[in-house]
Amino acid sequence: MPLELVTVPCLKDNYAFLLHDPVSRTTAVVDVPEAPPIRAALAARGWQLTHVLLTHHHWDHVDGLTDLIAGGDVRVIGAAADAHRLPVLDQKVEDGDTFFLGKFEVRVIDVPGHTVGHIAYHIPSAALAFTGDSLMAMGCGRLFEGTPGQMWASLCKLAALPRNTQICSGHEYTMSNARFAQSLEDMSPALIFRLDAIARAREAGLPTVPSLLSEELATNPFLRAGDPVLKAAIGMADASDAAVFAELRKRKDSF
Ligand code: ZN
Ligand code: FE
Repeated sequence: MPLELVTVPCLKDNYAFLLHDPVSRTTAVVDVPEAPPIRAALAARGWQLTHVLLTHHHWDHVDGLTDLIAGGDVRVIGAAADAHRLPVLDQKVEDGDTFFLGKFEVRVIDVPGHTVGHIAYHIPSAALAFTGDSLMAMGCGRLFEGTPGQMWASLCKLAALPRNTQICSGHEYTMSNARFAQSLEDMSPALIFRLDAIARAREAGLPTVPSLLSEELATNPFLRAGDPVLKAAIGMADASDAAVFAELRKRKDSF
């Protein structure tokens, strides 16, 4: 039986994700912006929460935790490196660690940049990756703590996952990211197609997250920092991939 995935809109533009393995009756949530919508999504399906997976310490990813797990038997998992500023963790993990949700193996990937203790969770057998505020749909998180070089290295790790991986990221920022992408260069057919799909989804009130890694590789400017076409378009044909990434991130900050 497949691992079930539910995208739960929270706060103004955050997402939490429910994962449910019907065989073991394991139910996890990735990030807890606020408790009520997550509790409602669990109740609607009759699921009992067993695990919480945290991507990073920002309030809009952890603030609902205490309320959500009150009175329950829930295992909270997060980055060992950030244990001092995350809610109390039952399991501290670092890059390369693995654990199981039912029979589904979860791999931890260190992805610093947005914060220095930011991690992602990859579930290879379900083709899912939870990237928080590192790799996002058509974008990437702001560099609050890490360097451009750190974020570029993090994105390169995520870019190397199987192309059919669904990227479950933490925010609905896709339209503004898409406008930035559009501002950089003449639009490719892939970009035109994706922009249209994003606009239609948002008009219908639907999330644009998760997205496929293959789509991100083709249209996310931050993943395309090594693409000669994009490099030339922004006047950096001879620059290193990392330098192009740094320039793109800088431009997006003031876009
Ligand atoms: Zn954040
Ligand atoms: Fe966030």
